[in-house]
Amino acid sequence: MHYAENILETIGNTPLVKLNKLTKDLPCLVLAKYETFNPGNSVKDRMAVKMVEDAEADGRLKPGGTIIEGTSGNTGMGLALVAIVKGYKCIFVMSDKQSKEKMDILRAVGAEVIVCPTDVAPDDPRSYYSVARRLSEETPNSWYVNQYDNLSNAKAHYESTGPEIWKQTGGKITHFVVGVGTGGTVSGVGKYLKEQNPDIKVWGIDTYGSVFKKYHETGIFDENEIYPYVTEGIGEDILPKNVDFDIIDGFEKVTDKDAAVYTQLLAKEEGMFLGNSAGAAIKGLLQLKEHFTKDDVVVVLFHDHGSRYVGKMFNNEWMREMGYID
Ligand code: PMP
Repeated sequence: MHYAENILETIGNTPLVKLNKLTKDLPCLVLAKYETFNPGNSVKDRMAVKMVEDAEADGRLKPGGTIIEGTSGNTGMGLALVAIVKGYKCIFVMSDKQSKEKMDILRAVGAEVIVCPTDVAPDDPRSYYSVARRLSEETPNSWYVNQYDNLSNAKAHYESTGPEIWKQTGGKITHFVVGVGTGGTVSGVGKYLKEQNPDIKVWGIDTYGSVFKKYHETGIFDENEIYPYVTEGIGEDILPKNVDFDIIDGFEKVTDKDAAVYTQLLAKEEGMFLGNSAGAAIKGLLQLKEHFTKDDVVVVLFHDHGSRYVGKMFNNEWMREMGYID
């Protein structure tokens, strides 16, 4: 008999899938690291387990404790699965721009969800960063995960996602392209890959309204770069410790409209029903066309599943209201 002892043992070892239609004008092979095969339907399951295990190991998280985090949904899902198997409670704080599906899903796996306004500064007491921090101070036997600055996040990808990609491509990968939010995925995978072959290029996909690209290019944290945007899961108005800017060769920005349109195209053209950051990642990769040659093997990582976006990027009424389609 072959079976997993519990749902957490099914995390990782996701497939690598060739893109065929959207990439037909590129000279290179493009492979998608398809993270929706994780049990929580996103790459974030990997770092959720790692962050909990590291917190257990050094006593930050104790038996029967409460896990508190500010999360756009995927990290919350991963943490909720870990909490169920290991016997913890979860309180998640989300911003109100996140889709309702994400909130409902977290409540379905037993978490308490608190919703905060998006359009306030990170240090405003109403922001989801501030509320999560305050709750962790007020709740006895609780642990504030802080996926932005908790380096177990990037370490999870250094230990699992990176080695899987290296092995699956037989060491032939030349470029890694991925959306950047907390930076855990790009930094952990990028570090592992560059240790195997320093010539591998690592590209981060960013949004308009986020500070990453300008900071990477100039070293300036420019508040003028910060404004509300629609794309979910990537871009930030802070510099998380998990973004290792030295590992990243360049950032490419994708518009909200393009990210939404390409989220639909991935489903329609490739049969890949994925989240909004996958649309941004593939569009960003296509914008980088001139960087690729015929022998290149480009891996793009797709973070999460389309089911969380049925009310938005997969709803044509919403797409029309946003002016993204006619
Ligand atoms: N896409 C989605 C849908 C996400 O939830 C996240 C995490 N915020 C990312 C991309 C970015 O991944 P990371 O936090 O590892 O940079």
